[in-house]
Order: sequence, then C-alpha cells, then structure tokens
Amino acid sequence: MGPNPRVSEDKNYIETLKKKISRLRKEKHAVIIAHNYERPEIQEIADIRGDSLELSRAVTRVKAKVVVFCGVHFMAETASILNPDKKILLPVKEAGCPMADMITLPKLRDLKKLYPGVPVVCYVNSSAAVKGESDICCTSSNAVEVVDSLSSREVIFVPDQNLGTYIQSKLRQKKIILWEGFCPTHMRISEDEILTAKKQHPKAKFIAHPECPQRLLGHADYIGSTSGMLAYVQHSNGNEFIVGTELGMIYRLQQENPGKKFYCPSEHFLCADMKLTTLGWLAHSLENGVFEVKVSEPVRKKARRSLDRMLAVGSKKSGRNA
Ligand code: SF4
Repeated sequence: MGPNPRVSEDKNYIETLKKKISRLRKEKHAVIIAHNYERPEIQEIADIRGDSLELSRAVTRVKAKVVVFCGVHFMAETASILNPDKKILLPVKEAGCPMADMITLPKLRDLKKLYPGVPVVCYVNSSAAVKGESDICCTSSNAVEVVDSLSSREVIFVPDQNLGTYIQSKLRQKKIILWEGFCPTHMRISEDEILTAKKQHPKAKFIAHPECPQRLLGHADYIGSTSGMLAYVQHSNGNEFIVGTELGMIYRLQQENPGKKFYCPSEHFLCADMKLTTLGWLAHSLENGVFEVKVSEPVRKKARRSLDRMLAVGSKKSGRNA
C-alpha cells in the first residue's frame, strides 16, 4: 500500500492503515509525535502530541531511535537540533511553514547590519540557519519572558510581526524592531468573523493565539499558545469558547474537555501544510524511513546555543530543568 495524499472515507481502508502503522511502529522501534494542528486521525494514532517545543523536548525523553514528527519542517529540524542522535522523519517532505520561509539567513544578516549590536530574538517558527544567526529563540509561550530577559532596550524580533507587536504591547519599555513575517492562517481571519462568532455565542470566551493580528487580539479574553489555551480552558469556569487558532486545536480541546463547547470562528482557520500528513503518508514514512531531517553539525551547534539560551530563561523562572 503506497502513500495516499487524499483523505479516504473508506472505513476498511482506514482500519487497514491504522493496523499497518501500529505494526510498523513496533517493528521499527519508532515513536510517532504529532502537533496540535494535525488532522484528528493523526493526533489519535500519535504516541505524544503537543505544541512544537513540547514535542521537541519530548523527543529528548523517548528511548526510541526513530521519531516520526507529524508537523512541518522547522519542527522536525528543531527536534533534530535538540536530539542529533535520533533519526527524525517528516512524513511529507513538502510540509513547510510559510511564515518560517519569510525570513532567510541573508535577509537576517542584512537586517542585523542596519542595527549593529542589537540582539535578535527569533520565534521557533524559523529555519535552523536563522536560529543559528539569532541570539536567542522563543516560543509563543515564553516570548514576552525571553525578550524581557535581555538587558538591551532595543530588540530585533523575527519573523512574526504579530507576535512581535503583542510582545511590544506587554513590554512598553522596550523597542521591538519587527520583521514583516506573518502566519497566513492567523492573518486571514477578519474582525467581522470574530464579532459574528461572539454575537452567535454571547457566553463564549474568545481564546486567541498571539500569531493573530492586533485587530483580533483586542477582542480576546485570553491570549496564549496552544498549551496555554489547554490550561486556560481546563481551569476556566466558562463552558463555551471561540477558538482563535488553527482548527486542529479544537479536536484536542474537545477531547480533553468533553463537557465544554468549542466554536471555530472561521472555516479559513486552516493551515494547509499541517493537513498534508495523512495516515497513508505516515505509513509510508515508517515503512521506508523517509524523509529524514538532519541539520548539519556547524549549523546545529549554533542553533542549539540559541535554543539553550531560551530554555535557560524558562528554567530560571520555573525552577525546573528544561
Ligand atoms: S499555522 Fe501558521 S505558523 Fe503554524 S505551520 Fe501553519 S503557517 Fe506556519
């Protein structure tokens, strides 16, 4: 059975694929991990799921030598940077992140020349080369904390202008120099769609990812990463939520909070790259050991330094080992 980029509705076919994946996972001593935005059937079959950093850290703890990373390219790269001894597979070679592609190494070098001596913070949604050229990385969970940890008043932030603007709103004493990158999925949602959803569900709280533009964040009851959203919903007295991020997240929120209701404010809240991985491609990846993502050692070392600096900020605050 070859890879199938289509999503089949045929139950027998799906069951056959699931059995094949389970068999191959054992035979190859592999672990399957999936991002929160992946298709429900991929999240269901995965051993571990979470946001990009949670997953990269999880890879460090697994015993398996082979890790199939159901996500996009920069995530598999980050897993490889943190775990060079493991074989990291990305089931669909073309699964990338348009936002990560908006900043390249030459572009970042040019930007640094305009602001000599100003430290660069890069969002983990970036290539290994960009991470290596930056001073420190951050995620959507710790971005404010990371920027605040720097002694410099001026900070270059790449590539997400929306996350950068959100950080600026929290840290007025800093001057954030923004890059023009953005996540097309979060950017294409209109304010009208949010206002309509709020009208339709007046009791619902609006939870939003900081990759959303300010025009949406201004209406949010909670702003945070996907793991932050999970924690917020779990502890909230509210029973209804309008979810301001990629719609794959609703599957996990609903599974972990069966008594609560979740609404997607727009059918456009969909990341095409995150939906490329199907059960067919996952089986193909396990069977053939493809597509391996490996970062060259000199780049890996530099990128690792930026990631380690970020992890040190997190562990200083929380008192735990990163
Ligand atoms: S949702 Fe946005 S940031 Fe995430 S992978 Fe897709 S394009 Fe990139």
